[in-house]
Amino acid sequence: MTALGLSPEEFKRVADRLVQLATDYLASLDQRAIFPVTSGTKTQELFGGSAPEQGSGPAALDALEHVLHHSRAQNGRFFGYVLGSAEPVAAAATLLASVINQNVTAWRSAPSAVTLEQTVIRWLAEGIGCAGFSGSLAGGGSAANLMALAMAREIKAPANQAGAQEGTVYASEEVHMSIPKAIALLGIGRDNLRLLPVDEEFKLRPDSLARVMEEDRRHGKPAIAIVASAGTVNTGAIDPLGEIAAVAREYGAWFHVDGAYGALAALAAPEKFRGMEQADSISLDPHKWLYQPLDCGCLLYREPEAVRKTFSHTGVYARSLSDDPVEGFAFFEESLELSRPFRALKLWLSLRYHGLGAFRQAIENDLRHAQLLAEGITSHQCLELLAPVELSAVCFRYRDSGRNEEELNRLNSAILQRILSRGRVYLSNASLRARFALRACIVNHRTTDEDVVAVVEEVIAAAEELCPA
Ligand SMILES: *Cc1c(COP(=O)(O)O)cnc(C)c1O
Repeated sequence: MTALGLSPEEFKRVADRLVQLATDYLASLDQRAIFPVTSGTKTQELFGGSAPEQGSGPAALDALEHVLHHSRAQNGRFFGYVLGSAEPVAAAATLLASVINQNVTAWRSAPSAVTLEQTVIRWLAEGIGCAGFSGSLAGGGSAANLMALAMAREIKAPANQAGAQEGTVYASEEVHMSIPKAIALLGIGRDNLRLLPVDEEFKLRPDSLARVMEEDRRHGKPAIAIVASAGTVNTGAIDPLGEIAAVAREYGAWFHVDGAYGALAALAAPEKFRGMEQADSISLDPHKWLYQPLDCGCLLYREPEAVRKTFSHTGVYARSLSDDPVEGFAFFEESLELSRPFRALKLWLSLRYHGLGAFRQAIENDLRHAQLLAEGITSHQCLELLAPVELSAVCFRYRDSGRNEEELNRLNSAILQRILSRGRVYLSNASLRARFALRACIVNHRTTDEDVVAVVEEVIAAAEELCPA
């Protein structure tokens, strides 16, 4: 046997044990504490240490119990951040994807994997009303946004050859932090990202956008891109996409839609996303609202020419051997990645297994659950909504007429900590106009109506523990 060699029988023993662990985990998911009882010292003690010189064979797997034990449980009462709920068929597919280890660089390297990725890209584009767009899967919305803005820069203010030129990117102040990060990395400079105030529904105002762009044009400042959010990460607000598209056309700017949180909800509620189909590029995250296990992000674009202009840099060693449009295709000409995992397998299998209709239904349920939670909040005298509920993010707080804003912020922050230590529901937080908001974001196929009801129960219980009447 060679070093690292493993017989098929040994592999099966390892895999069977993993499958058993995963199965038991799923069976116990609903009873697990949503955040583990742990500490930094404890995790260092368990998972620190030096690399083993000698392997321990199958006994190495014993430590996996600890890994599960010190992990967050994503059951139906997990409402933190924007995190999909890891559909198990897709999760199982990742084992096979790793075993066959296709490097999804180009068709010549991975014929079935490249074709499946193109197929799921087409399904996603058609599903959200953007038939005809092409694209690629990526590590997440941050990578997709970076690639989209690299395209915008190369088309509007070419930089690949001679370095970055002056140009401005426009977005609302509710835009996700991955946008300023991309602007910095691309050498556009954060000073050239204009973050505009939002309206009372936390949406970018097309009239102020046009006014600012007009002024910049008069001062001879070139526009690179407008970034609209199709679901802001804080409140789920969808910027008026059609009107913003018109402004982008008027001022010759690239129109990017950051739909990492929300765009996939167009599968279930297309009317909310009108105008998205006019974008030059769209980021979306199947690992959020298509319930895929991490990672599975996606970038769609209208013009494959623009993406190739930005990313094509073929070294001779990798040059295609074929003139055939299918067999000559290379994702590395359209992406910042060269070595790429077979992300499409899980998505394709999970869509085939359940059908698009089931995903649509799960998204509809999330939207309905968010409305149900909003009703529970507005009908409770001690709670108030802090933003309209357009998608599935619900921002609210505990209120108390005896306290000022600063005291309410402190109280709600303490309530959140108390909720997490109670271990029944998981919420995160947002800051909205300097107010500390409790935030529940429902992108979870496991959530039931009772799970939603538990949110209000837990907030009230936590508040009562903190301030006994
Ligand atoms: C989550 C999110 C991102 C970043 O996506 P990742 O997959 O976490 O990299 C970008 N924009 C919005 C609106 C998001 O919700």
